Amino acid sequence: MKRIHSIVTGGAGFVGSHLCDFLLAQGHKVTCVDNLITGKKENIEHLRANRNFKFKKHNVIKPLPIRFAQVDYIFHLASPASPIGYMQHSIETILVNSMGSLQLLEYCRKRKTKFLFASTSEVYGSPQVHPQPETYWGHVNSFGPRSCYDESKRLGEALVYEHIHKFKVDARIIRIFNTYGPRLNENDGRVVSNLITQCLRGKPITLYGDGSQTRSFCYVSDLVAGIWAAISRENTMGEIFNLGNPQETTIRDFSKLVIELCGSVDSKINNKPLPVDDPVRRKPDISKAKRVLGWEPRIPLKEGLRQTIDWYRDRI
Ligand code: NAD
Ligand code: UDP
Repeated sequence: MKRIHSIVTGGAGFVGSHLCDFLLAQGHKVTCVDNLITGKKENIEHLRANRNFKFKKHNVIKPLPIRFAQVDYIFHLASPASPIGYMQHSIETILVNSMGSLQLLEYCRKRKTKFLFASTSEVYGSPQVHPQPETYWGHVNSFGPRSCYDESKRLGEALVYEHIHKFKVDARIIRIFNTYGPRLNENDGRVVSNLITQCLRGKPITLYGDGSQTRSFCYVSDLVAGIWAAISRENTMGEIFNLGNPQETTIRDFSKLVIELCGSVDSKINNKPLPVDDPVRRKPDISKAKRVLGWEPRIPLKEGLRQTIDWYRDRI
């Protein structure tokens, strides 16, 4: 097997650290480039002793600081990802998905490196088509609290498009739907981390709106397998893939499941207003990923949640 050297931007974050684990487990080399704006060194602490792993603290809106003998793949995952994270770091979010993407695409153009851009289901906004296929153009507010994220991901996608069509860069885009698992940052306000930690601490759980809004949750190991397929399979240049789990649930039902699995039957509900522009329904159409990549998620929500709850339980 050919040993691949990958740069994982955002490799000290939730998804990125699992991708680093996966690549190293296959015997590949990894350079994690991260400025730790929302990531944590402890997410990659266990990799420090691995000879095939390097960490470089760097903001990817600037050119990569290191000269490498060879880089085969760049996975561009760097970007705040949770509503709290990208609203707090809104300008940084716009820059990493625009300037950061441009810098990395230029690198790939000069060195013939394969590129993968981690986009998001948020490019569909609050969708009016359900489930969402890659061909759907979306229903996005360009001028609101989520715009820094949604619109900068859309701009990142346009930059990828131009580099493919003008410069023949071997690039592809994945649109990630809500993903969860161990290392999901406890403090970034996402529904999975909020509800689990509230249940484990015996605090009331925060339910935004009436809980009828839906999401579809994908376990992180499933996502990572899809990321790998999207870059390593033949005929993926220029393609976009939805990666997510199509099992859709209302947030109310999701909260009941978390309460059941945490064994916190006495948990009270703390109703809070629905955030501005919070999408009403979200569910990926993954038929393209199934057909082209031979990929589909394997871990049911209950099983993934059990593993995630165990991970938090050890830390609380
Ligand atoms: P995360 O916040 O845990 O990780 C993002 C990482 O990027 C962090 O380690 C952060 O420090 C780093 N980073 C941010 N700006 C940077 C910069 N300018 N230079 C270098 N490093 C920088 O988020 P995550 O959940 O792991 O998300 C990873 C990627 O997946 C993001 O691009 C996100 O938009 C995308 N995504 C994630 C989800 C999800 O459910 N987790 C859903 C859709 C899309
Ligand atoms: N949510 C909730 N309680 C929380 C956090 C989030 O009810 O403590 C809701 C939120 O309004 C949204 C859904 O859960 O409808 C998913 O929110 P998250 O921030 O995890 O992801 P995103 O909105 O980006 O899909």
